[in-house]
Amino acid sequence: MKKLVVATRNPGKIRELELLLQGTVGTILPISSFPGLAEVEEDGATFLDNAIKKARFAALATGLPALADDSGLVVEVLDGRPGVHSARFAGPGADDGANNRKLLEELAAVPASRRTAAFHCVLAFCTPEGNCRTFDGTLSGLILEDPQGEGGFGYDPLFLIPQYGETLAQLSLEIKNRISHRARALFQLKRYLAESGENSLQ
Ligand code: IMP
Repeated sequence: MKKLVVATRNPGKIRELELLLQGTVGTILPISSFPGLAEVEEDGATFLDNAIKKARFAALATGLPALADDSGLVVEVLDGRPGVHSARFAGPGADDGANNRKLLEELAAVPASRRTAAFHCVLAFCTPEGNCRTFDGTLSGLILEDPQGEGGFGYDPLFLIPQYGETLAQLSLEIKNRISHRARALFQLKRYLAESGENSLQ
């Protein structure tokens, strides 16, 4: 595939995609390189709804194949919250610190054995004709009672990966980028592009 539009304004995610899709896609174009496009509101009830809404809009608006993702934290004992509201769990404009404090408050009375959670990521790949394929990835872990580590972002300091005995904020970026929900969804997308012949650079 010669060109792929990525419906994100997050430069970190664009770099991650460029690295992973090297050799599969000629040029990755961030949605910000198409001035004047409306912002898509992430008001879907699921990660899937939001990812498809963003990718379909980008593909139709640019006339090029487009990719979008939606991700967040799903906590079992909170019936799946914060889920699609992960970025603004503590209210509109909330930062990572406020969201983490809110999560700890809600889990204050919950013992370690019931603090299971997972990060979920859904990627949607849509053609300009409006046809979409989706791919998902999850990463399971436990929510700690206190933050640990300085790396990563979002809920990383509270998210313990039992196999490593460390939070996502303590693990190296190299390991996080291998095991994360986003990486797992991206590997599936890459395999699909290769198998479907979409990997042509012509
Ligand atoms: P987005 O849809 O990928 O922008 O993610 C929405 C929210 O989910 C972020 O603002 C974070 O709060 C949370 N989140 C998603 N992925 C991660 C992760 O890898 N680590 C920590 N928090 C994450």
